[in-house]
Amino acid sequence: MPELLIDKYLALKDKYRNYDTKHALKLMQAFRYAVRHLAEKGYTVAFEMLGSINFGIVDPHSDADCILYHYCEIHESQGECPPNCSNLSWVKKEAVESVRRSFQNPRFSLEILDTINLRYLEDSLKRADFSDENEAIFRFFFYRSIGRPVNRPLVRLYFNQLLAHTEIVQKYKERASLMLAEYLHTTSHRYSFNKYNERILNRGLVVPEELTSELSGYLKA
Ligand SMILES: [Zn+2]
Repeated sequence: MPELLIDKYLALKDKYRNYDTKHALKLMQAFRYAVRHLAEKGYTVAFEMLGSINFGIVDPHSDADCILYHYCEIHESQGECPPNCSNLSWVKKEAVESVRRSFQNPRFSLEILDTINLRYLEDSLKRADFSDENEAIFRFFFYRSIGRPVNRPLVRLYFNQLLAHTEIVQKYKERASLMLAEYLHTTSHRYSFNKYNERILNRGLVVPEELTSELSGYLKA
């Protein structure tokens, strides 16, 4: 079987991570601080960082896109919390504020693109509900595959449970590859990859030839 796009993406992501900038590290720290801050208030959360941070390259002007994992008992039987869920609104607001506080930049642009209720996810895994209607569990798989986690032990707990269902994982990987291909074919994403390479070069680091050719092969996929 040919290598799936999602697998190529993962390999590439691993290599780029060696090029973490000072700002990338600072941003990750800010998110870890938010996790601790919310835990102190009695809320367990985790994040999945998407976008440029996955390639280690974040400059002070980069904005951050992330996914929020949280627990909501009120909506434990629903795939997602409705927009007016007071639980979720509070957690979102606290999370954004504490990241900004720790990053010492009140105007820092931070967007929570999606949220996953871990209570619902936990329940789906218990019931082994992998039906097509269960979008939340696939979304979790997709984000977990392409992102970078903050509060890794919590995320790993559920991801490992999911990985135990090998047949489903294979199906999900194929579906995730299609989604990823769609995402990659947008010009803005190609543009950002070129930007990453430029920034690495500007910092006087040598980009291994293997990585460059892998990157161009990847963009042609
Ligand atoms: Zn809720």
